[in-house]
Amino acid sequence: MASSTSFRTCPLCEATCGLAIEVDGGAVTRIRGDRDDVFSKGFLCPKGTALGKFHEDPDRLRQPMVKRDGTHVAVTWEEAYRAIAEGLLPVLDRDERAGGAIYLGNPVVHSLDMLLYSKAVTVGLGTKKVFSASTVDQRPREVASGLIYGHSGTIPVPDIDRTDMLVMLGANPMVSNGSLATAPDWPGRIDALLERGGALVVVDPACTKTAQRATTHLPIVPGADVLLLAAIATELVSTGTHRPVDEDREALERVAAALSAFTPDSVADGTGLTSAAIRDLVVQLTNAERPCVYARIGTTVTPFGTTASWLVDVVNALLGSLDAPGGAMFPKNAAGSKNTRGSGPHGPVQSLGRRKTSVSHMPIELGEYPVAVMAEEIETRNITAMITVAGNPVLSCPDSERLDAAFASLDFMVSVDCYLNETTRHADVILPPPSHLQKSHFDVAFGNLTIRNVANYSEPVLPLDDGGLPEWEVLARLASVLGGAQGTAADAAAVDAMIFEQLVSGALSAPSAPDGLDRERVVGALDDDAGPERLLDIMLRSGPFGDWFGLADGISLAHLREHPHGIDLGALEPRLPEALLTPSGRPEFEHPDLMGDIARMDGLLVAPDPSTLRLINRRTLRSNNSWMHNLEILVKGKPRCTMQIHPTDADRLGLVGGDIARVRSSAGSVEIPVAVDDGLRPGVVCIPHGWGHGASGTALAVASAAGGVNVNVLTPSTVVDPLSGTSQLTGFAVTVEPVG
Ligand code: SF4
Repeated sequence: MASSTSFRTCPLCEATCGLAIEVDGGAVTRIRGDRDDVFSKGFLCPKGTALGKFHEDPDRLRQPMVKRDGTHVAVTWEEAYRAIAEGLLPVLDRDERAGGAIYLGNPVVHSLDMLLYSKAVTVGLGTKKVFSASTVDQRPREVASGLIYGHSGTIPVPDIDRTDMLVMLGANPMVSNGSLATAPDWPGRIDALLERGGALVVVDPACTKTAQRATTHLPIVPGADVLLLAAIATELVSTGTHRPVDEDREALERVAAALSAFTPDSVADGTGLTSAAIRDLVVQLTNAERPCVYARIGTTVTPFGTTASWLVDVVNALLGSLDAPGGAMFPKNAAGSKNTRGSGPHGPVQSLGRRKTSVSHMPIELGEYPVAVMAEEIETRNITAMITVAGNPVLSCPDSERLDAAFASLDFMVSVDCYLNETTRHADVILPPPSHLQKSHFDVAFGNLTIRNVANYSEPVLPLDDGGLPEWEVLARLASVLGGAQGTAADAAAVDAMIFEQLVSGALSAPSAPDGLDRERVVGALDDDAGPERLLDIMLRSGPFGDWFGLADGISLAHLREHPHGIDLGALEPRLPEALLTPSGRPEFEHPDLMGDIARMDGLLVAPDPSTLRLINRRTLRSNNSWMHNLEILVKGKPRCTMQIHPTDADRLGLVGGDIARVRSSAGSVEIPVAVDDGLRPGVVCIPHGWGHGASGTALAVASAAGGVNVNVLTPSTVVDPLSGTSQLTGFAVTVEPVG
């Protein structure tokens, strides 16, 4: 086989780096950054270089697995789908499909095929019990956007390349490379901000790598960001230094009036920051020409995640930075979005709380159950059958030991996954998708979050394994079986055709569709046969930069194929009110569900008890949630799963670096090596997430040997943000003691 170089977008994280992948004799010989990529310009991180190792990993599943007598054995695809039809359908039909549920893991949003076809699996399952990694991550931001802008995908992103002051709360992009702010090379972009004389203020209980680069680090009490944001808003208005657009001025001033109890003085105890530091921050913001406030996971996985997300937008709007270059702006997704259809203001004001879960009455928002209730819904037999897609909730969701036991009690379980891991070990059938290098790629989801409008399509780099199925077909056949088709009769093409017709109808009915567009033109203009490429082509051509199937100048999939390094569609431009789907035609800053949560913030105003330690999470550069720990190249070196603790707290507890500490919470306890770190705020301990491999029945040789503990053994499932249902993963109380 000849050697070749392929260019493709890295599918692992939101940075969407362009990779140049050298292949010789069917094997990956080198992966480097693609210097010609229009967005990343050669940047990449160690995870991207490991994609070849992931492809070669002997533990990566290449054949379907069926559990027989408690052991997973490799079977043919026909046997696997037949086992699902014979095992799962009777369980589902026993209670008229009320007991089925699905969990969608984080990699779903990084996969073209999974994004396009997993909905069909949910429909085939006939369930409303949908769980995803969103309720241990960004769901509060989406809920806030739904209320304010009329669509959960309308999320303002920091215009880091043009701002002159970036205030960053609960984010560490030097390590994780941005989130809800799609951009490669955050380190380089931060350097550029500082080199052009700009300021970076990091608000975080830990002096993270990003905080170390900042001009100012504010070590806030975990979970108190909502207080700081409220105090910034009131200070801006009380000093008369706010400068919102005229259309929103009165609404924003009424919001600030409702927040008037939260001043730099009143929030000092609760935030652990001095009132002088908060006032100085406000002065810096008002003196900046193009300030921007950006918040991420440290602010959303708290009991006030939705309210904090709302206040980020309120502050940006008060600064005149919302929808302004250098501020917080709205991307325009090349693959289209509800907010790019040109429909303008419409629809009723969205509201929360219409659906609750049946056991602990937690909110069901944006069509999803909170993962916090997954264990109890299984324990009470509200869920008897489960499908997981690209997820490992036993490691990534709260109260893990309880959830692990609950999964073991299911009547039937199917997983679509590339590993036999802590969750899929419970599955009766595992359907393996191909490796990332064996499938095409386009970032449909991250077009909503990108700091610059780009479009980049990647062809598969390597062929499928012998007997392997394309990812879309794995899912479409599953959807077909769930719909009642048996075994080999499962009809993936019919599922694909159904999605195709939905997209064609959507294109024809789009308000922005040009005159003369009809079904014949749409269908006649498409190059590809069945599969994700044909669907993507429709989305691109009817998107905001599309060629409308030949009726306009614009992009198509064929156009992207001619540009393997991507197409730059330009810097973000102001989009309000065009992007809004609100009845008023303006952002609903005074939404009653958000204003109604202000009173709850009073409880945060007291100083935290100094004798109580609070647990926070951290990311590491060589780790991607739970699923890349089986690659030696990423886990070698000193152990990364340690509990960081401030020297003062370590001394008080009689701990030194390398000791083993027992950490307890209301949910459970773990034993973990100690790392003393004066970068942490006193009273805070920090453990990374995604570790804790080695359970019996898994097949992860490297990860199991790497050790580490599962931080979510400690995470209680009882505390959520009541507006979004998102679990509190940071800032809850723990006790720490030496072991032995
Ligand atoms: S930062 Fe790393 S993991 Fe993320 S897209 Fe770039 S190369 Fe991939």
